[in-house]
Amino acid sequence: MDKQQLLGVIAQQIINDKVTPELAAGATQLVFGDGHPNADIVFIGEAPGKNEDLQGKPFVGAAGKFLNEMLGLIDLKREDVYITNIVKYRPPNNRDPLPEEKKAFLPYLQSQLEVIQPKVLVTLGRHSMNCFLPDLQISQVHGQPKRIKLQLKDNSDTLEVVIMPLFHPAAALYNGSMRQTLIDDFTLIPAIIEKLTITSNA
Ligand code: URA
Repeated sequence: MDKQQLLGVIAQQIINDKVTPELAAGATQLVFGDGHPNADIVFIGEAPGKNEDLQGKPFVGAAGKFLNEMLGLIDLKREDVYITNIVKYRPPNNRDPLPEEKKAFLPYLQSQLEVIQPKVLVTLGRHSMNCFLPDLQISQVHGQPKRIKLQLKDNSDTLEVVIMPLFHPAAALYNGSMRQTLIDDFTLIPAIIEKLTITSNA
């Protein structure tokens, strides 16, 4: 099976395992992920909103348009990266995902990352960052890459990744100073990739 097919299997497992049945019942569909199954960079948001729920793809509303613009600033397109969320069904009225909902989806996110094997995880917002770096404050560490050993699902395997914590594009969209900070942080991404390339070729 290729990576795209393996990702399809994980999406089907979420449905078969009846993960967060209340969220599933209120959602139009599962929003699993979008982009290149072999991407070096994976962007992880919080949960689908209204447009994502309707279209079945992450970050296709206003926040997604802003994310696409920022990708353009660093010469990347959505097809070059992989984009997903922690929680894969839309929470009612776009409320924050609950701790138990994030916990329920974590093993599937770990499986997704195990298939893709990215080098960099860009977390969008505090919910996503705190899945990997539970004790940190986004206001203090945004834009500061951290190298971690990511625990994978079966707890025996790890994946070495650099986590780049960023503010959430929806939070920054209409807040002038946060918007500029997010753009400034975003433009640091190519240097992280460059450094990883140099290190791994050395
Ligand atoms: N916000 C998110 O966190 N994810 C989406 O897919 C859209 C908006």
